[in-house]
Amino acid sequence: MAKNTKYIFVTGGVLSSLGKGLASAAIGMLLESRGLTVTIQKLDPYINVDPGTMNPFQHGEVFVTDDGTETDLDLGHYERFTNAKLGRNNNFTTGKIYDQVISKERRGEYLGGTVQVIPHITDEIKKSICLVGGDVDVVLVEIGGTIGDIESLPFLEAIRQFKADAGPSNVIYIHLTLVPYIKTAHEVKTKPTQHSVKELRSIGIQPDILLCRTESYLSDEIKQKISLFCNVDTDAVFTAKDVDCIYEVPLVYNKEGLGDKILQKLNIWARAPQLDEWKEMVDRLQNPRFSVNIAIVGKYVDLTESYKSLNEALAHGGISNDARVNLQYVDSTTLTQENVEEVLSQSDGVLVPGGFGSRGIEGKIIAAKYAREKKVPYFGICLGMHMAVIEIARNLLDLEEANGEEFDPYTPYPVIYLMKEWYDEQTKQVEKRDEKSDKGGTMRLGAYPCQLVEDTLAMAAYKQKDISERHRHRFEFNNAYKDRLVEAGLIISGTSPDHELVEIVELKGHPWYLGCQFHPEFKSKPDNPHPLFRDFVKASMKNAKQ
Ligand code: GLN
Repeated sequence: MAKNTKYIFVTGGVLSSLGKGLASAAIGMLLESRGLTVTIQKLDPYINVDPGTMNPFQHGEVFVTDDGTETDLDLGHYERFTNAKLGRNNNFTTGKIYDQVISKERRGEYLGGTVQVIPHITDEIKKSICLVGGDVDVVLVEIGGTIGDIESLPFLEAIRQFKADAGPSNVIYIHLTLVPYIKTAHEVKTKPTQHSVKELRSIGIQPDILLCRTESYLSDEIKQKISLFCNVDTDAVFTAKDVDCIYEVPLVYNKEGLGDKILQKLNIWARAPQLDEWKEMVDRLQNPRFSVNIAIVGKYVDLTESYKSLNEALAHGGISNDARVNLQYVDSTTLTQENVEEVLSQSDGVLVPGGFGSRGIEGKIIAAKYAREKKVPYFGICLGMHMAVIEIARNLLDLEEANGEEFDPYTPYPVIYLMKEWYDEQTKQVEKRDEKSDKGGTMRLGAYPCQLVEDTLAMAAYKQKDISERHRHRFEFNNAYKDRLVEAGLIISGTSPDHELVEIVELKGHPWYLGCQFHPEFKSKPDNPHPLFRDFVKASMKNAKQ
């Protein structure tokens, strides 16, 4: 355990989806605004070792960190709100914890002892918490799930014990709960909160601060009632009021005095919060002068959680252009040559995001063709770049059967293919894979360097030659078709430093057409919008005015 590090554990009660991830991110941001350094860790009770293979329908987006860890989407919130550098130690699941304990048991590290939840699993959890925070002032740890779930018990027991290990003055517990407003009775109800806190106390955790999700501010009377029943100081009961825009959350917390209370409870001295720039950013986001319509042509259309970072990055692009970005989700499985014009005619820009598998790809290729021919700004991200390359090969090179090996392993023209062997900048070794490689370990994952070419859209956006972006894919641009594609108008504007891997493509004579092999959305922040999203939104706005 690092000396002087303070720990904040965030738990949630009553029901899921109360926004614990956002609350943790917002608290992190508030602490940073006072000059403190923070990191945030998520402990997830599910048994998957990591969320990499989980269905985005069920669990939302898989967020990727620089070190190539596939993590819970809450880490995306943490990175967007704070400057914390996150990696493999910032997300642990029950599966990962058990995996480590079982491996140790197999190696004989427990010396013939009986391996049990307490102390072996709880010790492993505590060790994982200690892995982050070596050099920060405050570690925030969010416990996934809801109090009362069987699965989260070992985590709760571990954080209960943690207070004694770290010293009581170095640890606080913040509990996020629901105070529903019952319309028919014209009343807010505190009972669910009382029960949730009772449950928490029954396992030995007394919350120091309550964050009550409600529709409107809680009266002093209600706060007193909650305080009495939950054994929490009245001035430590906060309203976590619903907001229109997630970036308002830290501002609302600050107004309520949450930051001061946390510092007081943890006995930290820090400067007053500096929030002017953040306030300005929120104001720009909420009161834009312009507006622009962007079509997202994808597969998981009815669950925006699966494109969380993408949606945020587009909103950030709007902030830098003083524009509201209206998103139109288009299900690519329904898009045809016949209806594409009608479906996309209201959109000022077309974006094809990342994705896996062959379902819906023909619709995405049709969208890419429409954008190319109609000179509508096109942004293809990872799979969206593959779609662009396949479309151009099919229609400009007359390779009608061109495809990606992911969609047709026997295509005569594999313009997007599975690279069998390459030197990997992330793992610093030669990687090999074939069709039989298992799904988990064969992707290019995490941050890779990329070199940009002068006089391209990419260079105009980044304004620097060397960049680094995050990847999550198996298939690549096939250099065997490079010369022909370039002759047909494709511009290779970004490659790996050894020029072996094509990272960004553009199109000659098109106002804004860019496909990238990486996921720029993972690195966009509201107060530092990603240059590609900024420029894509800008180009789409120009298109809107025509
Ligand atoms: N399915 C493609 C691949 O694995 C693209 C992945 C993505 O869009 N992230 O290469």
